[in-house]
Amino acid sequence: MSAIDGLPPLREVIARHDLRAKKQLGQNFLLDLNLTAKIARQAGDLTQCDVLEIGPGPGGLTRGLLAEGARHVLAIEKDARALPALQEIADAYPGRLSIMEGDALRIDPLAHLTPPIRIAANLPYNVGTELLVRWLTPAEWPPFWQSLTLMFQKEVAERIVAQPGSKAYGRLALLAQWRADARIAMTLPPEAFVPVPKVHSAVVHLTALPKPRYPADPAILSRLTAAAFNQRRKMLRASLRGLHPQIETLLESVGIPPTARAEEIDLERFCALARALAV
Ligand code: SAM
Repeated sequence: MSAIDGLPPLREVIARHDLRAKKQLGQNFLLDLNLTAKIARQAGDLTQCDVLEIGPGPGGLTRGLLAEGARHVLAIEKDARALPALQEIADAYPGRLSIMEGDALRIDPLAHLTPPIRIAANLPYNVGTELLVRWLTPAEWPPFWQSLTLMFQKEVAERIVAQPGSKAYGRLALLAQWRADARIAMTLPPEAFVPVPKVHSAVVHLTALPKPRYPADPAILSRLTAAAFNQRRKMLRASLRGLHPQIETLLESVGIPPTARAEEIDLERFCALARALAV
């Protein structure tokens, strides 16, 4: 018996339900329940929250979230093989775990959640990045979630929290930091997962700001940062030429040297330039 919840150890669950990891579903499982409880704690006080968990798999993080007191967990899993294992967890925590089978990229779970809502997930890298971008770009701000606690490859996590002047700095950092506080909460070695992946991982914790850090039109800011970072080695007066006939004057008006490169420019100045482009 495992200590945190009286349910069987995850190795036994995986063997009993024949949950051999499938590469095409990006399956690298966390088996240490002390570790999953620690990840769950990074999500903050869950006792008054509904938690949306994407990709619960055999349920290691799910058990961590429930053991840490989440009011309710809604878990969306694409792999039907995992559902009986998840049902055992639901039975051990009556009324606190709902399971949905399906692709999180296609399901809108909002109707099944009651605010305040936090999101936690250990997802395949490509699905995680796509969902992160979606969660950061809703039609309205603030979004439906209070915080995101997400596992990424360490290299992706570094891109989310990157500061100007670093190689990792780019659109993802600007997008995340414009409307959220973002920090790396934990790093994990490959050996924390089964099967063992090639890369290190990191848990990123993002907290939604009540309003964007600096005013800017989202569509203009998105076009601007796409143009700036698609040619990140070019000077801005060249990479942004297509956005405005007098781009040099505009850059100077917000204090950006036209010869600067995208990775030298902080979020505040990108937002100022987006406002200048909007006039
Ligand atoms: N959360 C579990 C853990 O920490 O041990 C499993 C992590 S594993 C990296 C990723 C999980 O996401 C797998 O269970 C996989 O089946 C599921 N998954 C992959 N793509 C998905 C999608 N589009 N929608 C929902 N679940 C998905």
